[in-house]
Amino acid sequence: MVNNIELNKRQSEILKIVKADGPITGEQIADRLNLTRATLRPDLAILTMAGFLDARPRVGYFYTGKSGTQLLTENLKKLHVKEYQSMPVAVQDHVSVYDAICHMFLEDVGTLFVLDQKGLLAGVVSRKDLLRASIGQQDLTSLPINVIMTRMPNVTYCEPEDLLVTVASKLISKQIDSLPVVKKTEAGYEVSGRITKTNITKAFVSLSKDEE
Ligand code: ADP
Repeated sequence: MVNNIELNKRQSEILKIVKADGPITGEQIADRLNLTRATLRPDLAILTMAGFLDARPRVGYFYTGKSGTQLLTENLKKLHVKEYQSMPVAVQDHVSVYDAICHMFLEDVGTLFVLDQKGLLAGVVSRKDLLRASIGQQDLTSLPINVIMTRMPNVTYCEPEDLLVTVASKLISKQIDSLPVVKKTEAGYEVSGRITKTNITKAFVSLSKDEE
């Protein structure tokens, strides 16, 4: 039984035929279903792309024997940070908490990355960090952001080639909403993007669209 991916009636029939009698050519499958090869082509393409079937020239289609869960895991491992990341939103480490709050509203993000004088990653501030600072008695216009940020080396980050599923695990285990995407240099970490729970959700949706 195939999990996770909904096949239409014709695709299920094709799968049944190939499971029973593969390797089998597209022509033969078409004959068995009383359809033309052209009519079957989109269904065969979907079954092959989704990994249920494999095709070899001059041999035909055969069943890969993979379960829906195996296929989903394989497809998940094709999603990388660089394909789903957003632009980073950053502030300099000397700006005030007041200015950081304004910046967060203007840019409509939940996390700001904080950069040092050299433009390298120094820390992160979240909405709650800013709220916490705001309920104290401090003057927010003179309180620098680097006093309240979560600072390096305690910032969890990722790199463009990392798997999205690895990032998702880090977001869960660290109970945070986003990670900076960094490029490591000798001087420190340059920030090239951000990955948030929204990016992960978008990837999740795109996975389901692949199968339609
Ligand atoms: P919020 O606190 O607004 O719900 P988060 O859950 O992302 O947002 O942040 C929780 C705490 O974790 C905050 O103190 C924040 O500074 C810190 N934090 C956020 N992102 C990271 C990160 N990538 N690495 C380390 N700490 C982080």
